[in-house]
Amino acid sequence: MKLVIDGARIWNGASEFYDKGTIVIEDGKIEAVLAGDERDRYKPPAEARVIDGDGKLAIPGLINAHTHLYSSLARGMALPNYSPHTFTQILEQMWWRLDKALDPSSVRMSALVGAMEAARCGVTTLIDHHASPHAVTGSLAAVKDAVNKDVGLRGAFCYELSDRDGMEIRDEGIEENLDFLASDDPSDSMSTALFGMHASFTISDDTLSKVAERIPNGAGVHIHVAEGPEDEEQCQSEHGMRIVQRLDKFNLLRERSILAHCLHIDEAEKDLVAESKAIVVHNPRSNMNNAVGVFDMEGFLKRGIPVGLGTDGVGSNMLTELFTAGILQKVSTGDSLAAGFPDLQKILFENNPQIASRLLGAQLGRIAPGYAADIALFDYNPPTPIDAGNVLGHLLFGIAVHDMHVSDLIVNGELVIGSGRFVNLDEDALYARAREEAASLWARIS
Ligand SMILES: [Zn+2]
Repeated sequence: MKLVIDGARIWNGASEFYDKGTIVIEDGKIEAVLAGDERDRYKPPAEARVIDGDGKLAIPGLINAHTHLYSSLARGMALPNYSPHTFTQILEQMWWRLDKALDPSSVRMSALVGAMEAARCGVTTLIDHHASPHAVTGSLAAVKDAVNKDVGLRGAFCYELSDRDGMEIRDEGIEENLDFLASDDPSDSMSTALFGMHASFTISDDTLSKVAERIPNGAGVHIHVAEGPEDEEQCQSEHGMRIVQRLDKFNLLRERSILAHCLHIDEAEKDLVAESKAIVVHNPRSNMNNAVGVFDMEGFLKRGIPVGLGTDGVGSNMLTELFTAGILQKVSTGDSLAAGFPDLQKILFENNPQIASRLLGAQLGRIAPGYAADIALFDYNPPTPIDAGNVLGHLLFGIAVHDMHVSDLIVNGELVIGSGRFVNLDEDALYARAREEAASLWARIS
C-alpha cells in the first residue's frame, strides 16, 4: 500500500528544500518527492494512506551511531557508595553493577523503552552495544526483537565482550556475537550484526586472538577506544603499544568497525584509523558527563575519517546531541567559530547515514527517490524564514533547543508513530510495566 505525506515542508537532508511537497512511499522506499506543478497534478490512489503534512517539517530519519539500550532503566537509580574519581570507577560503581543485574526480561524491557524514546526523537536507526553478563546467550535476539519488531526501528547489534566477568562469561560473549553474526540475513536491511567488545583494557591478548581467529571475513567490531585516559595507559604498559596499533595487530580495523570515543588516541593512531577506513563515533554529552575529555573533531574530519555521532546511552535525541557537539567544541577551543554548521551537518546528516547504510546495506539519510523511506515529521511552524541554507539552524535552535518530539515517524515505509502516538504499542501500559521491571532490577543491584 502506498503511503503519502502530502503538503509538508521537506528537507531532503542535503541541499534541497520544498516549502510544500508530497512524498510518495511504496515497498519501504521513497518513490517520488513532488513539488510545484508535479505535485498539483498528482492524485494519490484511493487505497493510499495519506498523512496530512500541513504545518509539518519532514527530515530524513535520524541515526544514533553508538548507544547502549541496556542503560534505559537506570534513570533515577540511586547507587549506594557511588563516588567515582576516575572513568574506570564510573564503570565499576555504576554500569558494571547495573549490567550484572540484567536478566532476560529486563534486557528486553530496556531495549523496548530505549527504542521507543529514540523513536519519539525522530531516530529510525540505532547502532547498539549491549552488555548483560549474567544473561548473555540470546540477549542480542531479544534486543533485536524489541527494536525491529516491537518498535519497528532499524538496528545494528553486538554483544560487549570482555574479560571482566571471568573466562566462562567471556566465552559466552564470543559465542553470542558469532551466533548472532551467523544468523544475520544480509538481505534484511532492518538489522545487522557487529562483533562487540568492551574496550582494550578489559580484553587480554588471548581474547583478542580468539576474536581475530573466529570473526568472519568482512565483519566489523564495535568497541570503545580510549574513552578514558586509563585505556591508553594500560595498553602501553601492558602491551607496549597504543590501542589502535593493538587493534591493527589483530586485524580488527575494518571498514565495518566502529571505534567509539577515540578521545586519547595520538596523531599516528588517527592516521592509522584513516588508512583503515574504520568508523569513529563521537559522543559529546556522555564524554562531558564522565569528564573524560574533548574529541578532536577537526583532527578526525580533516583526515577524511567517517566521524559519526552517538549518544552512548544518554537518550537518543540526536539533534540536542548535535547541538552539544557544536557548543562543546566552541567552549573547549575558546573559538565561537569552531564546529560550524557545515561540520555539524556532515556528521549527523552525511556521515551517520553513510555509516548506517554501510552496515545495513540500505540507502539511508535522504528524502529522495530510491532511498529507504525513513522519515521524521515534526509539527514545526517556523517563526522565521526557512530554506535549504538555514534548515540546520531551525533544527538546532528550534527543534533541539525546544526539545520537540516527532508527530509522525516512518521507518522502512511503515508508520511507527502517527499523530504523536505509537501505532502498534500501548505506551502507557508498557511504561507501567517498565517501572515494575526497573524497580526489581534496582533491587538486584549489589
Ligand atoms: Zn559506549
